[in-house]
Amino acid sequence: MSTGIVVVGAQWGDEGKGKVVDHLATDAAVVVRYQGGANAGHTLVVGGQKTVLHLVPSGILHPGKCCAIGAGCVVDPHELATELASLRAAGVAVEPDRMWISLRAQLVLPPHQRLDKAREAAAGAKRLGTTGRGIGPAYEDAVGRRGVRMVDLLDPDRLRSRVEGVLRERNLVLEGLGAEPFTTDEVLAPLLEIAEELGPFITDVGHRLDAHLRAGDIVLFEGAQGSLLDVSHGTYPFVTSSATVAGSASVGAGVGPGAVGRVVGITKAYATRVGAGPFPTELNDETGERLRRVGAEFGATTGRPRRCGWFDAVALRYAARINGLTEIALTKLDVLSGLETLQIAVGYKADGVDLESFPAVDLEQVEPVFETVEGWSEPIEGARVRDALPEAARAYVRRLEELVGVPVSMVSVGPGREAIIPWSSETYQSRHKSYSSK
Ligand code: GDP
Repeated sequence: MSTGIVVVGAQWGDEGKGKVVDHLATDAAVVVRYQGGANAGHTLVVGGQKTVLHLVPSGILHPGKCCAIGAGCVVDPHELATELASLRAAGVAVEPDRMWISLRAQLVLPPHQRLDKAREAAAGAKRLGTTGRGIGPAYEDAVGRRGVRMVDLLDPDRLRSRVEGVLRERNLVLEGLGAEPFTTDEVLAPLLEIAEELGPFITDVGHRLDAHLRAGDIVLFEGAQGSLLDVSHGTYPFVTSSATVAGSASVGAGVGPGAVGRVVGITKAYATRVGAGPFPTELNDETGERLRRVGAEFGATTGRPRRCGWFDAVALRYAARINGLTEIALTKLDVLSGLETLQIAVGYKADGVDLESFPAVDLEQVEPVFETVEGWSEPIEGARVRDALPEAARAYVRRLEELVGVPVSMVSVGPGREAIIPWSSETYQSRHKSYSSK
């Protein structure tokens, strides 16, 4: 049996992947990040203490689990070192036997960050709304075959020559945008310092994962951002610079696609989006404001307010298809308590035509077709079993399940680790049992 489980955001990111990974990590041996950089922010609340992780998989908070950063990631080595240090300060064991950084992961360097910011500033109203952390430019250099990789940190001469290669190209662009160029030593010196610290963690992640998969251990593949931000399948050009969909787990971690047996799509019970780009069900009114306030919809990395709207079943059906979702984890159902009625986008109208699929272009032009359903007034954060939820909340989950066509396997009703209801959709229960009794 394939014991790999991919956890992927089914919307525009910030769906609460961190919490679901944390929940599933109980049964896993390894948690691996397969794409993205430190623009992903996972917020976890364990024992009332809040931890924000940007690069290190949230599994690190489980003693004895191994965590990995795969080849498909881009890593700011200084940020990573800071994150490891703060975890250590919080009493978490961070040792090379359980924290692995891929030899092949690409580095995010200061010129990438400066370039990211200079471009966004120059773009004015046309800016993408990036986090300004240099993720996009680092991926460009990776594909441009001039990137600096983790393995280069282990050889000072090679490191110098790789940094020179990046600067040859990037300094031209920086100057063109009116930004300061870098000298080689400015970039190199801090890297040489950090190399000592990170060196022991740098390893062949694919090889290590393979050993666990062969032994029948559960490996969790933790995605960052969301499916609709995928560079190929998302709302292009308002997307992130990596492949975020489930298929990317195999590529980014360095194992074959046959390793994956379950694909868990995380979605909120409503929708949010950070930054620019189409968002058909966006609410620019009091209800949107309320979702933002009650759901604390502000970016974990940047603090930016998120745009909020109703659940979009068209978008979710699309996400289910491109990811091959086998189940859905529904989060933040508690945020909807107290709304008299709820709306669900069940289709789109464009030029009077109903669109079945999520369109590749002109999403700004579409008008969602909404279905109105009953809300519930009770707070539900304390519910731990399905029957403790008001009937309207259960009916809402059932309706989403029906519209998307994928079984819901768990419902999250609060930020805490324990605020999760295993949904009795048979798929989840039988699978979960067979995994944990292994
Ligand atoms: P991620 O990047 O997908 O992990 O998402 P974030 O961590 O940015 O956002 C999730 C936020 O929602 C965090 O602050 C969580 O503590 C919180 N959260 C997760 N699940 C729930 C839930 O079911 N209800 C509520 N109210 N908050 C939740």
